[in-house]
Amino acid sequence: MARKTGFLFHELYMWHNTGQAALWYPSGLKVQPGEHAENAETKRRLRNVMEVAGILDHLVEVRARPVTDDEILRVHTPDYLAGIKEMSKGRGGDAGETTPFGHGSYEIACLSAGGTVAMVDAAVAGTIDNGYALVRPPGHHAEPDIGRGFCIFSNIGISVEHARANHGISRVAVVDWDVHHGNGTQRIFYEDPNVLSISIHQDNWYPVDSGHIDQTGEGAGVGANINVPLPPGSGRDAYIGTFERVVAPALRRFKPEMIVIASGYDGSIYDPLGRMMVTSTVYRRMTQIMLELADEMTGGKLILSHEGGYSAAYVPYCGLAVMEELSGITSSIRDPFEEIVDSSGGHQLYAHQDDVIKKAETLAAAVPAG
Ligand SMILES: [Zn+2]
Repeated sequence: MARKTGFLFHELYMWHNTGQAALWYPSGLKVQPGEHAENAETKRRLRNVMEVAGILDHLVEVRARPVTDDEILRVHTPDYLAGIKEMSKGRGGDAGETTPFGHGSYEIACLSAGGTVAMVDAAVAGTIDNGYALVRPPGHHAEPDIGRGFCIFSNIGISVEHARANHGISRVAVVDWDVHHGNGTQRIFYEDPNVLSISIHQDNWYPVDSGHIDQTGEGAGVGANINVPLPPGSGRDAYIGTFERVVAPALRRFKPEMIVIASGYDGSIYDPLGRMMVTSTVYRRMTQIMLELADEMTGGKLILSHEGGYSAAYVPYCGLAVMEELSGITSSIRDPFEEIVDSSGGHQLYAHQDDVIKKAETLAAAVPAG
């Protein structure tokens, strides 16, 4: 079924400068300078393959606008915002923990959060059925008072608060399939019963000691936070099983009016910053499940906001599979790695993975009912 799928990109996202590093470790006297893992290339190549595959022409272009300081302050503290602005006016700095940035990244981060906000606006206005905001810098690690894990502002947190303040939306589900824990989203909405936050991530990876299964919310928010910390090496059946057995029942019980996906591709089998085995076929299937849920509960209000993903070779094909499913368009390009990665060993569900999913199933049955 063909759908009106929004797409958003801005060249300025590619100009956000994370400097030189070895993967993420800053270069110095003992580390030779190299390209930072969070660089423009993976995102550029995702957009490029969409253009070459002919899918871009069929999407609805959504334009980003920068968020205002007042919009940022719905989620972040005044001191944190002031610090980012000050460093950005000069030569840049670090937003807190492993989040280096250069001159002008305040403005770019405002445009990144504003990209996700613009996609929410388009979905609410009905000009799109669903949409993908290919934004940068990413957002899901950013906490109210500290930037972490390459994230400056919480793009999704700001967008959820925008939707609640301006569009009369009260219940939102955030599903995070990035390989790292969505700690920022968790912290922002930890005591909020009206935002269901579900993060599927590699067990105790980044941030360290974060994303445990017993972190289920606090106060009024108890039950509205689900972590599924899958063991390293999890592949097809663990991921699809999590979506069918945990995400789907949790959302059906919670009944969100809008669904936002924190869309990282660093769970992919070729990612240098993750140890999972997700393939484009699996991202495709997870997208199908999310579309079914969005159709059922939100009238199609499904927004994806780009997060991590560091394999320049493979991210484009994972993203293309997601875009094909969102739009219902089959493009002219197939994932060239598909045959090898899908036929490799280890994609079945193992007992130690099933144990985690079983525990998460009980959490899904206990989310605040809508
Ligand atoms: Zn990540």
